[in-house]
Amino acid sequence: MAILNRTTKQWQEIDSAHQLHPFTDFKSLAEEGSIIISKANGVHLTNSDGKQLLDAMSGLWCVNIGYGRKSMAEVAYEQMQELPYYNSFFKTTTVPSIELARQLAEITPKDLNYAFFSSSGSEANDTVVRMVKRYWDLKNQPSKKTFISREYAYHGSTMIGVSLGGMTGMHDQGGLLPGFSHIMPPYWYKYGENMNQEEFGLYAANKLEERIIELGAENVAAFIGEPIQGAGGVIIPPDSYWPRIQEICKKYDILLVVDEVICGFGRTGNWFGSDTYNIKPDIITMAKGISSGYIPLSGIMVGSRVSDVMINEGGEFYHGYTYSGHPVACAVAIENLKIIKEENLIENSSKISVYLENRMQEVSEHPLVGEVRMKSLIGAVELVEDKNTRKMFEDTGTVGSICRDYCIQNGLVMRAVRDGMIFCPPLIFTKDNVDELVDKLKKSLDQTHSHISKS
Ligand SMILES: *Cc1c(COP(=O)(O)O)cnc(C)c1O
Repeated sequence: MAILNRTTKQWQEIDSAHQLHPFTDFKSLAEEGSIIISKANGVHLTNSDGKQLLDAMSGLWCVNIGYGRKSMAEVAYEQMQELPYYNSFFKTTTVPSIELARQLAEITPKDLNYAFFSSSGSEANDTVVRMVKRYWDLKNQPSKKTFISREYAYHGSTMIGVSLGGMTGMHDQGGLLPGFSHIMPPYWYKYGENMNQEEFGLYAANKLEERIIELGAENVAAFIGEPIQGAGGVIIPPDSYWPRIQEICKKYDILLVVDEVICGFGRTGNWFGSDTYNIKPDIITMAKGISSGYIPLSGIMVGSRVSDVMINEGGEFYHGYTYSGHPVACAVAIENLKIIKEENLIENSSKISVYLENRMQEVSEHPLVGEVRMKSLIGAVELVEDKNTRKMFEDTGTVGSICRDYCIQNGLVMRAVRDGMIFCPPLIFTKDNVDELVDKLKKSLDQTHSHISKS
């Protein structure tokens, strides 16, 4: 948007007069004015005043291949000229959607061979809920309707997404539908008490069994979980957690859905979080890294247990979106996969994560830091009141946002979830980028520390 030449101040005024932003306190935005990002290249953003920021969040956990990829733009340009749009309804489709489905079947865990496309993670999870309900109807077990997920889970912002999710703030704003039930997340730092990590992993997983028994297995359709809970604060489960969850799903004959929206496409050191944790899901949800955020695209991959029934016994499935399998989005996603493969971004990023983990030792020693937890290139720095007793701040979120603001001032984009500082950098991160991140973070932590010591 180079055509309109306005100052930052002017843009901010127009913005607060005409735009309601997602997840934003509108009034305080109007007072402060929004940060306007105008350009990006590699792992750096430039704001409307020309200031550079290191993007340690990959946008919103999505720009896995980094910014400024010309080939992504070229593919979109070519596809728009050849065929900008056609749908996949009523037995039609387009070549890019077929090819992307084939490639996804190749890279996703073994049994997942069918794609159903949409444009956002939330829509994909709506597809999950509708398909799972349809599956149990077709299996003549229509009472199996309740979905179990976790507190602090994030599964999107549509009514279904919010209901699957475990964010109480969202539930309280008219977001919770009946038929959704939430259990404790595998969040050792907060809930682990005297248990070691592995004991706690089993304890948290057993909450699923308890809830199934409470609800009656004949009423439970599926369990859904992110391999690592992202927006909930990068909650990394102990290794004992997922094996036990899978045993329980099997034992009570409920479907296992894995929301790979953040963990997918290389984030945890493998193509999918399911590979990292050896999970065998019946369905996965994909978005974000599927197109590295260059264009909206999402989908689910369905395993044979569900696809066999949907195909052979289902008749017409009355579900779909105008943009399901959008040819431009699918073409761009194919190019995204090509870049991840050709540049070995998954292997390279997990190598760089070792260097990041080493440098994060310095951050761990900071008096404000309770723990640094990470898996390949996703992690959190938990800020606490007392690192020796694992005591968290009572006024949850205040210190986190102070630190986040210092980070921004210092030219570093990290996100605060409660009092956890989250990082999820592009998979093209280099050693220099790691050094920049850690140096800026340490400075911001020092500033935060003296800020709260004074008050
Ligand atoms: C972001 C996210 C979603 C929702 O995706 P949208 O594209 O914002 O609708 C769903 N699940 C997880 C795990 C996410 O991180």
